Amino acid sequence: MHEFSTAVNIVEAVKRAAKSYDATKVIGITIQIGKLSMLNHDQLLFGIEIAAKGSVAEGAKVTIEPLATKIRCRECKKESEVPEEGTLYDILTSLACSKCQSKDVEVIQGRECVIKDIKAEVGKK
Ligand SMILES: [Zn+2]
Repeated sequence: MHEFSTAVNIVEAVKRAAKSYDATKVIGITIQIGKLSMLNHDQLLFGIEIAAKGSVAEGAKVTIEPLATKIRCRECKKESEVPEEGTLYDILTSLACSKCQSKDVEVIQGRECVIKDIKAEVGKK
């Protein structure tokens, strides 16, 4: 249940953010998901809906945006974005530096799932 534990973490982070801004209700959450995180979007959305029940984030509209996959070449240190075409297998097997074509690269972005934006109503004091 990779998606569900991620969903719980997201909702916990949203709840903490809402609390620190004295928000009374979270309206929208935008998250960015890297293709290499291998998260199923539908399952993640469902998990967030369940995890948010009864909390300040219940009913928030969740938007998922893709997070680009980025690699850094160990040979020439060039950082480049990986074109996200084809299957995950295609992407993983074709990872190569855009400058020197070396296959000795490390993924520096694209495995993660991050909260980009939270929209909330703030209560009057
Ligand atoms: Zn290179």
